[in-house]
Amino acid sequence: MASSIIRSLGRNALSPHFTSPMVQKRLTSTVIQKPVIVDLSRELYHRCQNHPFHVPFIQTQWDTHQPKVAGNTTFRSASYALTMSDRSGTHVDAPKHFGPGGASIDELPLEDFYTSAIALDLSHVELRAAISVREMEEALEKAGEEIREGDTVLIYMAFNKRVGFDEPRWQHDFPGLHPDSVRWLADRGCKMFGVEAISPSPEGEMNFQAHNICGERGITHIEGLDHLEKVVGKGRFTFVGFPWKLRGGSGSPIRAVALFDP
Ligand SMILES: [Zn+2]
Repeated sequence: MASSIIRSLGRNALSPHFTSPMVQKRLTSTVIQKPVIVDLSRELYHRCQNHPFHVPFIQTQWDTHQPKVAGNTTFRSASYALTMSDRSGTHVDAPKHFGPGGASIDELPLEDFYTSAIALDLSHVELRAAISVREMEEALEKAGEEIREGDTVLIYMAFNKRVGFDEPRWQHDFPGLHPDSVRWLADRGCKMFGVEAISPSPEGEMNFQAHNICGERGITHIEGLDHLEKVVGKGRFTFVGFPWKLRGGSGSPIRAVALFDP
């Protein structure tokens, strides 16, 4: 509302000469009001774990504050070299990942990564378990929410609380969605769901099936989320996780965040 007022009024909108003190106060307070941001991304660091199908994340020093001189000025800068997969850390799969002919990450509209969202609490499931449709229905009921067309649905399995990032079994022991639960999400209009693990479903055949279903149903998922305990039981929020503009990419790291009204 305030931003459209400012757009229509132009750059003088905030000028005290242009608006009454009351309007001025309202515009100013609205413009600077920021949402509460919850970071849902995991940390990327040298040799951190990722899916064994993909290139590991390697971070090495390139520029180490050695002096550079121009005229009478010395500058000491640092930078790092990265080798990584287009699905390192917290990342989203593009349809291209699910099979030939799928859209690449740069072909997807940014609107797909700025959505209304809910989180479901499945933190009680056993490691390596496949979450059934019944369990999804119970979690949705417990959340007191509904899944709406275009929603992002984040699924908290407390996996990162139970298995540390640096434990080798972090790549294998995760629970996940039964393929029928992926279809259940798609049936309800969910366009993107998210999990903490490197895969949406338990390792092996079910994980391949879950990816194929995403391709068939025109939905996708985020892997490698963290801190989902901060958004379960909090009702509806805005999910934001923009991908990199990678030409022809099969996916992309994202900085996943939840936005709540202050
Ligand atoms: Zn995936």
